[in-house]
Formats: sequence, C-alpha cells, structure tokens
Amino acid sequence: MTEGEKQQLGERLATVRERLVDAARAAGRRPEEIRLVAVSKLHPVEAVQAAFALGQRAFGENYVQEALAKQEAFPELAAQGGEWHCIGHVQTNKAKDVAGRFALIHTVDSVKFAETLARRLAPGANRQAVLVQVNIGDEAQKAGVPESDLPRLVESILNLPRLELRGLMCLPPFFDDGEAARPFFARLRVLRDETAARFGMTLPELSMGMSGDFVQAVREGATIVRIGSDIFGPRPARTTA
Ligand SMILES: *Cc1c(COP(=O)(O)O)cnc(C)c1O
Repeated sequence: MTEGEKQQLGERLATVRERLVDAARAAGRRPEEIRLVAVSKLHPVEAVQAAFALGQRAFGENYVQEALAKQEAFPELAAQGGEWHCIGHVQTNKAKDVAGRFALIHTVDSVKFAETLARRLAPGANRQAVLVQVNIGDEAQKAGVPESDLPRLVESILNLPRLELRGLMCLPPFFDDGEAARPFFARLRVLRDETAARFGMTLPELSMGMSGDFVQAVREGATIVRIGSDIFGPRPARTTA
C-alpha cells in the first residue's frame, strides 16, 4: 500500500467511526454498545495491517482459505488483542478449518454444521462463540436458516456444550436505499427476543448492517456491524482459488 492509500484508509475509517457514533446517539444508544467489524475480504493482508495500525481490532472474512492465509501472514493481530470474525457461509466439510480459529463465527446455519464444528474443537479448548445466521428475506440464493427452523437449530446448539451461542446474524435482501432493509433488521431483533425468551437465556448479539445500511441496523438494535467497502474501498473481483 502506498502512503496515499494508507491515508485514504485512515480517512475512511475515521468517517465510518463518526457515522457509527452519530447513528448510536440518534438511536438513543451508547456508541460502545456497537462493535465495528471491518470486512477485509478480497483485500490484501496489507490493508488489514494498515487498519490494525490505525486502531481497528476486529476483521471479518468470508472465504476460509483467504482468511487462514491472512491469519498466517499476520499472527500479530491475534497476539495483540485483535479478532478475526468468520462472516461467510462455511461448508460442513470446512468446519475443521474454522473451528477455534475465529473469535466469532457469524454463520452457523444448520444442525449438521453446528455438530461438525463442535466435534472439531480441540478438547479443552475455549468454547467457540457463534451466531446463527437467519435467512431473513427468505431468499433462495442466500445462506442462513429459515425462520421456521430457527428454534430447532438453537436447541441443537444449546445441546453442544463446546459452542457458545451469542446471538443472531442476518444479511437482508439488497436495496439501494438502506431504509428498505429496516423491517428485516427489526424482524431479526424480534426473533432474537423470542428465541431468548423461549429458551430462557440472553442472546446479546445482533450482527446486522453493512456499508449501505448500518445506520438503519443500529437504529434497530445492531450490536455488531460488518462494514467493508466504506472502509477499504471497492473490492477487487474474486478469482476462485
Ligand atoms: C461483504 C460482506 C459485508 C460487507 O459489505 P460492504 O457492503 O462492503 O460493507 C458484510 N457482511 C457480509 C456477510 C459480507 O459478505
């Protein structure tokens, strides 16, 4: 990265942080209640290093091989208080590659994946924090558990002591206007509240909101926002590895 690119990254990150603080205040919430996950997928590890140097601590990755390569190239991140978040769909046969390697896996969406993940955690290791991804717009092309299957999946996860269920995540249908995503965020919050009540537990996290709609997600109760392009700029195209 050139110095100019690093400076631009610093400006983008500062702007996102300001907008996040403003969104929290506008929603009558404390800014500290909302964690910013910088989505670095398809950007080089140098971009992660530069953002880390600017104080950003949590990074989200979608593709397992790419994420593991970055972890290997930048071990200082985890050693110095940083966190990797898995935010992409993971095939069950890759559960072994993500188990224990991410501070939070946002994308548990089937009983089979949850059970495989739990089995792949090293004995005696810390519990793996997870979120359940809900297919909130009921879109055929999107990952996530259908609403109707959520209770069954939650029940299965609660029977897996190596997993620690922290909350729900969603990726609503895409709209040009972030305001249009708001009912989907509100719905995820209702599902979270219903699930917590049904199982008599607290589910503190709601992972929702991206570059185009994080302000609306914060209004509806997001505790984690996942922001990529507003921080790192446009993404290079994916070349399948
Ligand atoms: C890519 C991605 C993001 C970030 O999207 P931007 O629009 O670049 O902010 C957030 N969440 C998930 C699940 C993603 O795949």
